[in-house]
Amino acid sequence: MNPRPTRLVLLGHPVAHSLSPRMQGAALRAAGIDVEYQALDVPPHDLARVLAELASAGAAGNVTVPHKAAVAAECARLEPLAQRTGAVNTFWTEQGRLVGANTDVAGFDAAVRDLLGALPTGIPVAVVGAGGGAAGVLAAIERWGDCEVRLHNRTAERAHALARRFQDLAVVAASVDAGLRGASLVVNATSVGLYDDALPFDIRHLEPGSAVVDLVYRPGDTELVRQARAAGHRAAGGLAMLVGQGAASFAQWFGVDPDRRVMWKAVEPTRPG
Ligand code: NAP
Repeated sequence: MNPRPTRLVLLGHPVAHSLSPRMQGAALRAAGIDVEYQALDVPPHDLARVLAELASAGAAGNVTVPHKAAVAAECARLEPLAQRTGAVNTFWTEQGRLVGANTDVAGFDAAVRDLLGALPTGIPVAVVGAGGGAAGVLAAIERWGDCEVRLHNRTAERAHALARRFQDLAVVAASVDAGLRGASLVVNATSVGLYDDALPFDIRHLEPGSAVVDLVYRPGDTELVRQARAAGHRAAGGLAMLVGQGAASFAQWFGVDPDRRVMWKAVEPTRPG
């Protein structure tokens, strides 16, 4: 097992909105682990310096927008899913060198299991967005088996680049609506809806019976989740993925599973159970 991290950080820019410090803090206290988890707002130009300091201090942590690809490029070694996605959301230090992993994949699986009861196989999926979060979603779907993904992104080159990375799984859709057509699962992997009630696509264009997973989380539900549920769709916001990826990160750092109920309570105090 790796040596216990000396400190835990969340690297992002901005990071103030993140629930990870609260969630991981609760998990650490419940496990009796006396290590602090701290959000660090790191502008891109300062990332390499901060990573070098963290590596020499034996630190570990998480990575969020916009640093996932940049941290992947700085790691001395990447675990297989970080290599597959080109995105690191979890890192630790081995002998002064950074190791990167991607637990967004496990987090997305947890969210889908929560929503649908099991991981599906052989279904058409629409994914909107082509950043680090979308890469984790595609790496997860690839492992379900026999699914096909229609991908759409505001910036078309990014969608094409991601579809090339997952060329046996994903094709680029000409429009958001073309992506939604026939899809039984629809994933919002854009940051639309993070700060306001904007929608990444028109709910009326969802297929009847399709399910919606929104990676975005905010206090209460996102507008996408609210509207999808009101229209009779099963829909989940980003908290299930947040807890799933956070629990998988904790297990990487400490070699033990955290108490997920404690993590859920920290991010959604009103959740039953
Ligand atoms: P990212 O790499 O910065 O990518 C952002 C994505 O959002 C890109 O596809 C971008 O399109 C799109 N986008 C941003 N503003 C848009 C707009 N106004 N209209 C249309 N598209 C827009 O970020 P990321 O890491 O993939 O994260 C995306 C979202 O997922 C964030 O809200 C993040 O918090 C969330 N997330 C949640 C979890 C979780 O655990 N719940 C895990 C990972 C990510 P362009 O390429 O055109 O800029």
